[in-house]
Amino acid sequence: MDGNEIWIFAECRDGKLDSSYSELLFAGRSIARQTQKKLYAVLLGTETEQAEERIRCLGADGVYVVRLTGKTFYTDNHISEALCRLAENKAPDIALFPASDLGRGAASRLAVFKKTGLTADCSALSVGPGGVVIWECPSADSGFARIVCEERRPQMATLLPGRFPKAEEIPSEPEIIREEINLKEDLVQVLEVKPVVSAPNLLSSAELIIGGGNGMGSKENFQALGRLAELMGGALGATRAAVDEGWAKQEQMIGQSGVHIAPKVYIACGISGYAQHMTGVSEDTCVIAINSDPEAPIFRYARYGIVGDAAQIVSAWLSRWEV
Ligand SMILES: Cc1cc2nc3c(=O)[nH]c(=O)nc-3n(C[C@H](O)[C@H](O)[C@H](O)COP(=O)(O)OP(=O)(O)OC[C@H]3O[C@@H](n4cnc5c(N)ncnc54)[C@H](O)[C@@H]3O)c2cc1C
Repeated sequence: MDGNEIWIFAECRDGKLDSSYSELLFAGRSIARQTQKKLYAVLLGTETEQAEERIRCLGADGVYVVRLTGKTFYTDNHISEALCRLAENKAPDIALFPASDLGRGAASRLAVFKKTGLTADCSALSVGPGGVVIWECPSADSGFARIVCEERRPQMATLLPGRFPKAEEIPSEPEIIREEINLKEDLVQVLEVKPVVSAPNLLSSAELIIGGGNGMGSKENFQALGRLAELMGGALGATRAAVDEGWAKQEQMIGQSGVHIAPKVYIACGISGYAQHMTGVSEDTCVIAINSDPEAPIFRYARYGIVGDAAQIVSAWLSRWEV
């Protein structure tokens, strides 16, 4: 119970280490430097040899390699159960998770188990007096909140993808602590696993993205945005409000709970500019905003701004591009 460990949840997909590990490692190293604590990767699963090798190349002071037994298929319930059992007799001071489906599920269950606080969707962090981590995340208005967990341990957060640089690779010979956890019976029985075959999300690689929000006013206006994006050789994105209206698909949502984008140009049409949306847009992107309200927060992020009716402007642009 030395409270000297920083845990990094090493997410695996098909036995391979997920790229989120590198960003968590960057954040973890920065905390470790300031607190003199040790970094431990936590690797749970069945065939994790490849991921373990990769962790050795990237660097950590130690790795908990937890082999799961007793099941053919594993759900996030099982991973979370194993994580809590691993943490039963240990006292990590800090624990970092990716803000992925699995990371969010495991972090929230561990936080309940340890009766501590969890900061969701952290986009920046610093260390305050006494080694207290100050987590920064998008807040419910158009700003950012700073959250600390002073009394309970571990101090926990899920980190948004793309907000922390990837850690420099520093090969190491970490201390390897092997454990085996036999999982209990679960209410959920997985009978079969069928991989979802989906087209690659164009938003991740497009150089031009047109995003539509509530201010587009209707599904027809939103579809016009899609035509414009196609003609201009770009991709179409959306805010949560537009997804909730049924104008766009979930995978088109940009932001804290959606896709992180880094195009050269982002044309934001009828979008207010809430932090939860804008945190998904790279700081290097040139934002062009169209909004009827000159006071809309989106203009704080925009290099170029147009005050006006987005549907009318899009329709005028379309008539130019369609000739
Ligand atoms: C935990 C949490 C996570 C979230 N995650 C996300 C996320 O990942 N992505 C996301 O997008 N949101 C997310 N949200 C929601 C977010 O807070 C905002 O509610 C949302 O982004 C607002 O969408 P919007 O800008 O389309 O709508 P609104 O806020 O309703 O803004 C519409 C804008 O359109 C303008 N407008 C109106 N009429 C016109 C017109 N005719 N022409 C031009 N402009 C016009 C208005 O002035 C306004 O600025 C999250 C919220 C929470 C609490």
